[in-house]
Amino acid sequence: MTDPRRAIPRTDALLADPQLASLVTGLGRPRVTQVVREVQDHARRGRLAPSAVRGEVLSRLTALEASATTLSRVLNATGVVVHTNLGRAPLTRAAREAVLTASGYVDVELDLTTGTRAGRGRGMLAALRERVPDAGDALVVNNGAAALLLATTALGAGREVVVSRGEMVEIGDGFRLPALIESAGARLREVGTTNRTTLADYADAIGERTGALLKVHPSNFRVEGFTAAVPVGDLAGLGRRHGLPVVADIGSGLLVPDPALPDEPDATTALRAGAGLVTASGDKLLGGPQAGIVLGTAELVQALRRHPMARALRVDKLTIAALEATLRGPEPPVPAAIHARADILERRTRALARRLVSAGVGLAGEGVVRAEGRVGGGGAPEQPLAGWAVALPERYAAALRSGDPAVLARLEGGRCLVDLRCVPVEEEDVLVAAVVAAGGRDA
Ligand SMILES: *Cc1c(COP(=O)(O)O)cnc(C)c1O
Repeated sequence: MTDPRRAIPRTDALLADPQLASLVTGLGRPRVTQVVREVQDHARRGRLAPSAVRGEVLSRLTALEASATTLSRVLNATGVVVHTNLGRAPLTRAAREAVLTASGYVDVELDLTTGTRAGRGRGMLAALRERVPDAGDALVVNNGAAALLLATTALGAGREVVVSRGEMVEIGDGFRLPALIESAGARLREVGTTNRTTLADYADAIGERTGALLKVHPSNFRVEGFTAAVPVGDLAGLGRRHGLPVVADIGSGLLVPDPALPDEPDATTALRAGAGLVTASGDKLLGGPQAGIVLGTAELVQALRRHPMARALRVDKLTIAALEATLRGPEPPVPAAIHARADILERRTRALARRLVSAGVGLAGEGVVRAEGRVGGGGAPEQPLAGWAVALPERYAAALRSGDPAVLARLEGGRCLVDLRCVPVEEEDVLVAAVVAAGGRDA
C-alpha cells in the first residue's frame, strides 16, 4: 500500500513549473510559497486530491494576482497588538471565512424555513447576548464612535448629557468625543475638573433638561496623582434617584474582566453596576471587525434601535458575519497576543534567531533581546507586556517595510527589533524569507 499523500507535488517541483514561475515574478516568492504550503496542507488532510494540487495553486495565485485592492498584507512585528495604522484587530480564521460566505447572497434578513423576513443580524445579536447574559438586549453599529453618538443622541438630543471634565477625550486623528456628541444635538454639561470629579458635581448639574449621565473611559491616557472619579455604580445610583440612565463608554470591548488588564473596564461589570447602556468597539480588545457594540436594558436598546439615525449607522453583512464568528469562535489573535506567555515568546524568538543566522543574516548586538510589547490603541495603552525580539541592524526596517509581504518592525535604540508577539506561528516561514530577502535587497 502506498500512502496517497506521497503523490502530493513537492514545493520545489511546483516552484519550477514555468506557469508558476511567472506568478512568482508578480507576487513574490514568499507569497507563492505560502499558497503552495496551504494547498499541500489541504491535500495532506485529504480535502484535495494530490492531482488537483497544481491546479488549485494556480487558481489561488491567479486570484491573488488579480487582487483589486491596493491594500497590502503586513506582518506586524512591532509587538504593538492593536495597531491603529495596521487596521487594529486581525480576524480569526473563522471570521475570515465567515466574511467570505457573507460576500455572496446570504439569509441576513430572511428565515429560510418560513421564507419570511427575519431580524437582521439575529445570530450575531444572540451570540453577543450569550457572551454577556447581563444585557437585556444588544445592538451593533458601525464603530465605537457611532455607538456613543447614537446613545447620546437618542437620550440627549435637545437635552443635556452630564459628563466629567476628566473624560472629555480626543480619540485620535483630531476627533474629539465632545464635538462628536454635540454634532447631533445633545448638549454636554461638563462637571468637575480635569483631575477630580465627585458624585456631588454630577448631582448639582442634574436639572429638568438632563437626558442622561455619561461615563467615558479615558482609554488613551492616564491622569495620575491627586485624582478622583465616580464609579459607574455610584452614578447609576444617582441616576436611579432622578430617573436618568447612565451610558458607560468603555471603549475597549472587553465583555468580561481580563486579569491581565486589571484597569480596563468591561461590559458585564458596568451592566451589573447599573449602567443602562454600555458602548464599545468591536475591533479593539474583543479582536473582531470594526463595529460599535451597544449592550443594555431592553427598553433603552430598543429606543436606540428605533431612532432614525440607527439606519445610517447600521453594519454591513460582512461585519455581521465576522462579529458573530469572532464571538462564537476560538480566542482571536488580539487577546491571544496580549496573553502570549513570555517563555513561549522567548523560545520562538531564539528559534527565529537561529534560523536567520543559518540563513546568513547578521544580527545586531546580542541578537535576542528582551522587548516589551504594548496593547496599543485599544485600551491599557501603556501597560507593558513582557516579551522578546530579534535585533537586526537598523537599516533592515526600511527594507522590511518595502518587501512582500511588508514587515513592520520596531525601531529602538538604533536597532530594528522583530517581535513575534503578533506574528502567527504559521507565518514564521514567511517572516524568515522576508528578512533574508530584505538583507539581500539592502546589500
Ligand atoms: C476607541 C474609543 C472610542 C471610539 O471607538 P471607534 O471604534 O474607534 O469608533 C470611543 N470611546 C472610547 C472610550 C474609546 O476607547
